[in-house]
Amino acid sequence: MANTVIESDLSLVKDIAKLGGGSLKKCFQCATCSVVCNLSSDDRPFPRKEMIWAQWGLKDKLLSDPDVWRCYQCGDCSVYCPRGAKPAEVMGAIRNYSFKNYAAPKFMGTLLSSPKYLPVLFGIPIVLFLLVLSALGALSGVLSGPIAFTRFDNYVDVIFITVSVLVLLALGSGILKFWQNMDNNNAHGDRYGKKGIFQSILLAAEEVLTHRNFKKCDANNLRYTGHLALFYGFIALFIVTSIVFIGDRVFHMVLPMSQTNPVKIFANLGAIALIIGCSVAVYNRVGRRTQAGESSYYDWLFLGILFFIGVSGLLTEIARLAGLAPVAYWSYFVHLVLVFCLIAYFPYSKFAHLLYRFVAIVYARYAGMSEPAQAAASETTEAKSVA
Ligand code: SF4
Ligand code: SF4
Repeated sequence: MANTVIESDLSLVKDIAKLGGGSLKKCFQCATCSVVCNLSSDDRPFPRKEMIWAQWGLKDKLLSDPDVWRCYQCGDCSVYCPRGAKPAEVMGAIRNYSFKNYAAPKFMGTLLSSPKYLPVLFGIPIVLFLLVLSALGALSGVLSGPIAFTRFDNYVDVIFITVSVLVLLALGSGILKFWQNMDNNNAHGDRYGKKGIFQSILLAAEEVLTHRNFKKCDANNLRYTGHLALFYGFIALFIVTSIVFIGDRVFHMVLPMSQTNPVKIFANLGAIALIIGCSVAVYNRVGRRTQAGESSYYDWLFLGILFFIGVSGLLTEIARLAGLAPVAYWSYFVHLVLVFCLIAYFPYSKFAHLLYRFVAIVYARYAGMSEPAQAAASETTEAKSVA
């Protein structure tokens, strides 16, 4: 009989603990978490199996597991865990571990993993913008004449286009490795079942856009509401930025837009949705910790950057309308620094979960993995109310 060799990484438990999964060792494998999870399916129940894989140091299993990304960290399982092992937090820590592991270059993953590197993270764009703008003369006479941010366009474009290309390369290589790992290590029987890749992409897009499965989590509905506002606020701002970038650089659009321009109204609504979504998320994490569970440094960093992008964007606009040049330029500068952080650190921050989750859902559909049945989900909900 052939022996199966299982490779165990003994540092995994420590790494997961550092990333927010410190309660992992308390798990005694009762499987309550998999039973109460509305998103777990009969053929691939989670998060119990991820708890034991993490305890045993089975790094490859975790890194190639799409189910880690099918969890929305609603906290239901942590609420019902009899040992206080906080499986929801452990699943979040495993996701942090995953994108840190897939990140290239590796040192960027390390820089994003601890608050002690914050001065470096924010120092890079501050120094870069100040050097480029002052060296090329964009700052001279900035406070005289009407407030016009377009004077920085050419310099800012060079920085953002260069950074975006590097980020796309880093993300592409991480996602490719992730897909290959899922494909190599997944021993699921219905592999390459009934869905083609395009159909799988459409199904995953529908799930992400509607938050359909996120809504099935019922211990913490507020998390769903906040995430939805944050998600669509971000999408609105992304669309507006793209319209303005192409409109200005290609079609020489007149800027700034009037307050009644539909694009401007859409932008303002997006910024408000982003701020509301972030505020709900913060309230949920701070004010309702029993239901929401512990938040990791990755959560706070990402939320903080998004929140202050919304605030600095609105402040810039208000200061420009009020003719307060110093406030307008400084808040615009802060806004640029934060947008740089969001884009440049995408592959190494919580932001990456958007893409990894999407790819994992595409793979799950492509490989024929089953979704949680609605009937099963309602039975689970009934069982919880009895408990
Ligand atoms: S995490 Fe908690 S509920 Fe899940 S198997 Fe372990 S002890 Fe049981
Ligand atoms: S946090 Fe929610 S979605 Fe994730 S495993 Fe627990 S119950 Fe399921």
